[in-house]
Amino acid sequence: MKERYERDVVCPLCGKHYIGRPALSRIDNKTYICPECGTRQALASIGVDEREQEEIIATIYSHGAALDSE
Ligand SMILES: [Zn+2]
Repeated sequence: MKERYERDVVCPLCGKHYIGRPALSRIDNKTYICPECGTRQALASIGVDEREQEEIIATIYSHGAALDSE
């Protein structure tokens, strides 16, 4: 199994194309999802509601800084 993620990948949750290191889904611990969905699930896991999740994600990504800073 190759562990390189530099090519274009489609997130199975939102259907968006992304490049880079995927996040592991917290739902089943085996599905790789885009960093945005990973952030969304992380927020949901600490009780943040959907509307607030979107606001936080918009804030994170509009500043051009992903959680994964590498
Ligand atoms: Zn996604």
